[in-house]
Amino acid sequence: MNTRPLLFPWKEDKKKTQITIRKEKIGNAKPFIIAGPCSIQSYDQLKNAAKIAKESGAQGLRGGAFKPRSSPYAFQGLKKEGLEILEKVGKELDLITVSEVLDSRDIDLVFDHVDILQVGSRNMHNSSLLKELGKLKKPILLKRGFAATYEELLLSAEYILSGGNEEVILCERGIRTFETYTRNTLDLNAVAALKELSHLPVIVDPSHGTGKRSLVLPMARAAIAAGADGVIVEMQVDPEKSISDAMQTIGPEEFKTMMQQIAKIHEALF
Ligand code: PEP
Ligand code: MN
Repeated sequence: MNTRPLLFPWKEDKKKTQITIRKEKIGNAKPFIIAGPCSIQSYDQLKNAAKIAKESGAQGLRGGAFKPRSSPYAFQGLKKEGLEILEKVGKELDLITVSEVLDSRDIDLVFDHVDILQVGSRNMHNSSLLKELGKLKKPILLKRGFAATYEELLLSAEYILSGGNEEVILCERGIRTFETYTRNTLDLNAVAALKELSHLPVIVDPSHGTGKRSLVLPMARAAIAAGADGVIVEMQVDPEKSISDAMQTIGPEEFKTMMQQIAKIHEALF
């Protein structure tokens, strides 16, 4: 195992990491947009969302198959069946697929079906999971713990990098604060700070960051203006039918607007 810090503190001479998946690039490229439902519920639900994502110019398709729910009685995801649906739809529409791995025991299963493995906010501190992901040859989307500092997030990334997997994408998804109107407080300081402190791509999740459908579009715009390398949003054709996170899931029209506005902001500024 590597004992030399690869990431934190960052040596200025290290080049910015760019991750290439098939023909798409993440980091130092045009914004990488990942969209799709919070949970995969059926083939049709995912396929319809994926068509909108593709038509609007997104490169990635998200969908949870293992869901970290607050209540043990809430829908826990379609698991293997969900991953099979995600893989099929991803191939049909040529989209880069992203799904969460909740438990080390499911790594092989998730690895076999997706292009990018997501570590959720609740698992950012799970060092044994991170160590296992360090052995993989696939990019990891690492979400910030909802009470984690930048240093803690970067040290979690370091667990993956030090195992030999240098393809880590950091994700700001909002933190717990005293504010109750929004589900979380989207910390856009993180975008600029993490880019200053590390060489990894940084993306933003305005869906979990706000918890409110009406706030997703403005915060996606702000994320790109702040220098984010992309955004990940919860989107499906009939958002109110979403089993999980319906309140923060946007519909096709809003998503199309988001894509147009992001492109304009990126072009104007970068
Ligand atoms: C998700 O992406 O659906 C999710 C559960 O995210 P987080 O881990 O950020 O809460
Ligand atoms: Mn969700």
